[in-house]
Amino acid sequence: MILDGKAVAQKVLDEVRAGVVRLKETRGITPGLAAVLIGEDPASKVYVGSKKRMAASLGLASPDYLFPEGLAQRELLDLVDRLNADPAVHGILVQLPLPKTLDEDEVMARIAPAKDVDGLTPTSLGRLLAGAPGMVPCTPAGCLEILDHYGAELKGAEAVVIGRSRLVGKPLAQLLLARHATVTMCHTRTRDLAFHTRRADFLCVAAGRAGVVTGDMVKPGAWVIDVGVNRRADGTLTGDVDFPSVSQRAHAVTPVPGGVGPMTIAMLMKNTLLAAERQGRTQ
Ligand code: NAP
Repeated sequence: MILDGKAVAQKVLDEVRAGVVRLKETRGITPGLAAVLIGEDPASKVYVGSKKRMAASLGLASPDYLFPEGLAQRELLDLVDRLNADPAVHGILVQLPLPKTLDEDEVMARIAPAKDVDGLTPTSLGRLLAGAPGMVPCTPAGCLEILDHYGAELKGAEAVVIGRSRLVGKPLAQLLLARHATVTMCHTRTRDLAFHTRRADFLCVAAGRAGVVTGDMVKPGAWVIDVGVNRRADGTLTGDVDFPSVSQRAHAVTPVPGGVGPMTIAMLMKNTLLAAERQGRTQ
């Protein structure tokens, strides 16, 4: 079975669109997502552009703050402070990576937890670890949304996550653990990757290496979530798993493109609506 991330993302976006209308009608609140982009990185520009377009199409306000590379740390922190204090802004998105001259950790930590729609500040990640309510990072949340949509039963299952980044692997492992899976995390120092992957009922791959998982490494009947996005020499995109061989063995697998990718932006929109609903209650 192919897990259709595009269709699941569309369902989430439809719910967000309805939620935005409801929030406007019942409480007069228009959710606002502020996007901050520093520098000229072409991929980052594309990401911010598509997030803005998506936000506008759902009825969200989406002011952007674009600066050249030379912006000083102090100026960026001041901007974050202003956005934190602005009642029309419910979510703040600082597009990563920041130019090397800026201290990314300090900037992220400055974002008010209530407006941290990327879920990547230390407070949000700590809350996830503690099992407390908070903002969940968009890509891992999107993986869970796909599994839930297709009725996956995680309780007691063996889940293996390849990758331990702050952005994907670590929060994804926490989400799976919170759903009572038995979670193993693998990384570049893992001695025998295939030993672990072959035990997985749920195999989530976020390594950023095309072909890191081949069909012979997959347990027959497993669910495979491929987070990776890699560009082939001909410019097309491919995931981390060898799709032809893996899809032969797995019960279900996400394609690339059309799997986890569309979910990330959908979950960002969902987090922004959630942030506006929560902040609206305290106004
Ligand atoms: P990252 O920060 O580079 O982390 C990659 C992780 O994978 C690291 O923990 C690394 O281990 C591990 N790893 C790399 N090669 C491995 C190998 N051969 N065997 C086992 N582990 C290996 O990347 P990321 O930000 O987590 O992103 C991962 C992938 O997901 C990328 O392709 C990225 O483009 C994609 N992504 C997609 C979306 C989406 O919306 N679809 C969103 C975010 C990321 P070490 O820690 O030991 O180095």
